[in-house]
Amino acid sequence: MTEQLPAAALGRAAALLRGGELVAFPTETVYGLGADARQGRAVAAIFDAKGRPHFNPLICHFLDAATAFAEVLPDGRALALAERFWPGPLTLVLPRRATSRVDLLAGAGLDTLAVRVPAHPLALALLGEVGSPVAAPSANRSGGVSPTTAAHVLDGLGGRIAAVLDGGPCAVGVESTVLDLTGPGAVLLRPGGVPAEAIEALIGPVGRPLPLAAAAATRTLRSPGMLLSHYAPGLPVRLEATSVAATEALLAFGPEPLPGAGALWNLSPAGDLAEAAARLFSGLRALDAEGTRLGLTGIAAVPVPRDGLGAAINDRLERAAAPRPG
Ligand code: AMP
Ligand code: MG
Repeated sequence: MTEQLPAAALGRAAALLRGGELVAFPTETVYGLGADARQGRAVAAIFDAKGRPHFNPLICHFLDAATAFAEVLPDGRALALAERFWPGPLTLVLPRRATSRVDLLAGAGLDTLAVRVPAHPLALALLGEVGSPVAAPSANRSGGVSPTTAAHVLDGLGGRIAAVLDGGPCAVGVESTVLDLTGPGAVLLRPGGVPAEAIEALIGPVGRPLPLAAAAATRTLRSPGMLLSHYAPGLPVRLEATSVAATEALLAFGPEPLPGAGALWNLSPAGDLAEAAARLFSGLRALDAEGTRLGLTGIAAVPVPRDGLGAAINDRLERAAAPRPG
């Protein structure tokens, strides 16, 4: 059963989020499906509830610019844009700080993080109560239409999430503008509530992303999820391993990891897909670093079931194992 919480039950919504549960909440753009961004299991549950077949990076929501910039590194453009447009429907993609405690899964394993301060009093009050960044994609099933009322949320996700906090209809109704500031030229990754012209008036020309095929060919594609290997470990990855060599690092799953590997990361000794999703990106990074340090030749990944979150895990592993662009 999904709890339907009136605005006055804000404390209950915050307590659920702190407890690792999923709570949909209103922002000025659309309803977001929130999870504590520091809890990997909670972030994994977002992908599960949405039925997303792949992990794409989520926007992290913050109470104010200061708490956002504690997790990412702003440059002059970011500071100016935040000053002008936050709280508001503008998402900035910036380099993650090494000290960031946002779970790697929230950023789909990338070194960047998308951050935003929403302009909705209930969203801000909730963020204040939770005291932690809240990762939230739109609160609809994968492929569905973004919800602008609590009833829309329940239509798609009723029974799949702990609660929806009802703040009435959303004012903007379109998603936030997503702007990539990780390179020298700002790039508009998604048009949204803040017009590109308003951004350009402040920081100068903003690039539009190249069409997919051209971008892939020139390897300038920045919006991940579409890119075949947006984070690939340095070591080659071998899939569906049923045995492992001493010269390989093993990405294991389940209670009995294959014996004899040169290094080991078990995604979930209990065979739990939500745990495996939460430990996937940290595992790939750990095995890559450890394997490289030990002079191992590659990473062997055992089969992972394909149901539920397993689909997204397998999608990510296939990308990690895909031939690298020359
Ligand atoms: P939604 O989850 O529906 O709110 O959409 C989030 C949007 O932000 C998607 O278009 C993502 O690809 C984009 N996004 C989030 N994080 C990043 C990131 N680190 N780098 C590039 N794009 C991002
Ligand atoms: Mg969406």
